[in-house]
Amino acid sequence: DSKDFDTETETVCPFCGVGCKVSLKVKDGKVKSVEGINGPANEGRLCVKGRFGFDYIHHPHRLTKPLIRRDDAPAKGLNVDPGNLGTHFREATWDEALDLAAKGLVDLKETHGGRSVAGFGSAKCTNEEAYLFQKFIRQGFKHNNVDHCTRLCHASSVAALMENVGSGAVTATFNQIENSDVAIIIGSNPIENHPVAATYFKQFTKRGGKLIVMDPRGVGMRRFATEMVQFRPGADVSMLNAIMNVIVEEGLYDQAYIEKYTENWEAQKAHLAPFTPEAMSEICGVSPDQLRRVARIYANGKASLIFWGMGISQHIHGTDNSRCLISLALMTGNVGKPGAGLHPLRGQNNVQGASDAGLVPMFLPDYQSVMDDGIRKAFTDVWGSDDFSNEKGLTVTEIVDQVYAGNIKGMYIQGENPAMSDPDVEHARDAFAKLELLVVQDIFLTETANYADIILPASTLYEKNGTVSNTNRQVQRVRPAVAPPGEAREDWAITTDLAQRIGLNWGYTDVSEVFNEMKLNMKSLNNITWERLKTETITYPSLTPTDPGQAIVFGDGFPRADGRAKFTPASVIAPDEAPDAEYPMIMTTGRQLEHWHTGSMTRRSLVLDAVEPEANCSLNPKTLRQMGVEPGEMVRLTTRRGSIEIMARADRAIAEDMVFVPFAYVEAAANVLTNPAIDPYGKIPEFKFAAVRIEKV
Ligand code: SF4
Repeated sequence: DSKDFDTETETVCPFCGVGCKVSLKVKDGKVKSVEGINGPANEGRLCVKGRFGFDYIHHPHRLTKPLIRRDDAPAKGLNVDPGNLGTHFREATWDEALDLAAKGLVDLKETHGGRSVAGFGSAKCTNEEAYLFQKFIRQGFKHNNVDHCTRLCHASSVAALMENVGSGAVTATFNQIENSDVAIIIGSNPIENHPVAATYFKQFTKRGGKLIVMDPRGVGMRRFATEMVQFRPGADVSMLNAIMNVIVEEGLYDQAYIEKYTENWEAQKAHLAPFTPEAMSEICGVSPDQLRRVARIYANGKASLIFWGMGISQHIHGTDNSRCLISLALMTGNVGKPGAGLHPLRGQNNVQGASDAGLVPMFLPDYQSVMDDGIRKAFTDVWGSDDFSNEKGLTVTEIVDQVYAGNIKGMYIQGENPAMSDPDVEHARDAFAKLELLVVQDIFLTETANYADIILPASTLYEKNGTVSNTNRQVQRVRPAVAPPGEAREDWAITTDLAQRIGLNWGYTDVSEVFNEMKLNMKSLNNITWERLKTETITYPSLTPTDPGQAIVFGDGFPRADGRAKFTPASVIAPDEAPDAEYPMIMTTGRQLEHWHTGSMTRRSLVLDAVEPEANCSLNPKTLRQMGVEPGEMVRLTTRRGSIEIMARADRAIAEDMVFVPFAYVEAAANVLTNPAIDPYGKIPEFKFAAVRIEKV
């Protein structure tokens, strides 16, 4: 009923990479309800987070004034009560807080050099804000030590895609599944993590599409699967190589496609020869028969899509896992045609856009190398500034290690919560306690903000203007439905003010000016204008001023030097730590439907928190019986990094030697336990495999 609200604003859901378009109904300055509207990715659908996860924006814990750590505050630690900040912080004016932050950052630069300062931007902010954040570090401190949560998410997938197809984004939108007859979902739990995308996957099976679900956990999509392949954790490469071995042995590959569009096939074929189903079955825990069935179903499909998630990427062999998936698609000609392609399902709502905007240590916007003199010059010409380092910068976990070692002394962190999201998080927390200056810009007193010297109150996605890019490469406008509370401000405006105070020549007065600057050096934004985005969602690349964009790319070659995609063979590498007598089981981590990442937003959403209020882990009922633990009782999980106590749940879909731990709960933080060992290419930590001991409390 139109009488129930004062205004209605169209924008985009702030949670996952699906990028559902929403309409916000506002009454008396508060969002009252959220409805799905007809965006290309969601066609009116929403999941429980999108529909009910909005009241956090009005939560009494919102930061509304700049804060400065008190001289007499207790020692830095996870010790601030979000409802009583006065014990540690005093309120300040914007001028005082920004002046102090700028002076502190400049002092560090002048005393210890620019590399004593690093930055983490955010995949929760807009494209424009991500662009400004990387520019702030590169222009202001002359190096590339700037990163964001993509490092903990799909960095290994992007490394493999860049290497082998020449582009880090998806080759086909997930909606292309309407043209597929076969699909693989591997290392991904879309029913909980990309729920609206999952509705399209379910529809695909309803009309007869063959779905292959591959995961060490029996994830929800198994109920719709033609084949559920529950393989041993960390054994992805052995399983995928065995499937490819069958395709070679049975001649199911697409010779014409391989000859026309790829390179290194003979080496790949030779490499696969020893990976027979019989040889690999014991390693991956899948029968030779099932490996053969899966190979035949996938290779005989007319158009097959592969979707993957963190189960593939968050391993020390994450890049190898993605290399295998890319090879599987290439050898069967399943790229560049309707219903076929490679789709790493993006996590955060704007992790695609933030990466595109250059918020990564090795690339400027549009994945242009920081090592290329001409590319750096193109940017510094636009920025009106001197050159900066031609060395790839440090990644998220490398920056934390350098903070711990005392080499990085100051940080600017915008909208990220590494004191919850880093692996071996006690190490990260100890590192942040050592910083001489930590400036945190956020909407709540996150665990990371507990360690801050200066806190700058920022805005939620429902309070800001700009653009975001979803997992489908679709660029969409976001618009403010309500004003930020108190003195909180939009992130781009805060970064602009801080940049001016450290002496940079920034004069943005409207976020559209940032977008227009981005276009000068980002070909991906060709034909995408601020004007068009007022009414359109545009998928990049857009080939003409009226093209809504290309849902499928690489139909006629790849953006590599010779136009050919590449096969990169992958060998089996064991997980970093094997279970042993002391730590006999395997722990894996992930998300739950109701909670988003480190929980700062969804645990402050009434409905979502009511549905899922308590830290929990999932174990097989047989394992619980053997331990004498009833569902609902507490268990202690211990790894080589630390220990947590957490409520146990029974879940038949979990293998008997595994435990699944969501990472949203500070009181039982999964990342106290996780292994910081990283993949050598994507530099992504092994969140998906740790040896663990489980005891009844
Ligand atoms: Fe939001 Fe993702 Fe749910 Fe869509 S599927 S409503 S984008 S959380």
